[in-house]
Amino acid sequence: MKVKTTRAPKTTKLDKKGRRGDRKPEPIFKLRKKFCRFCINSPDKNKALDYKDVKRLEVFVTERGKIVSSRYSGNCAKHQRRVVEVLKKARFLSLLPYIR
Ligand SMILES: [Zn+2]
Repeated sequence: MKVKTTRAPKTTKLDKKGRRGDRKPEPIFKLRKKFCRFCINSPDKNKALDYKDVKRLEVFVTERGKIVSSRYSGNCAKHQRRVVEVLKKARFLSLLPYIR
């Protein structure tokens, strides 16, 4: 017995690389420009970072206690250096944990 398989009719032609020409490939990661929260106009801008201000510092720490890199936090190099300095001071005074 012969089984016939039906194929869906091709509606659009494929180009040389096998993609359909009618739509663009979607980007895997949507790129979004990050801004340093201390440089742009924000409530954080004019407040100096303080080692006693644990609530503000916890933004820059992961839930395991690691310091978030500037790639994720969006800080500029200057302010990332300041953040790390203050975080380490807060750790030393056991306001923040080294590990959780
Ligand atoms: Zn900055």
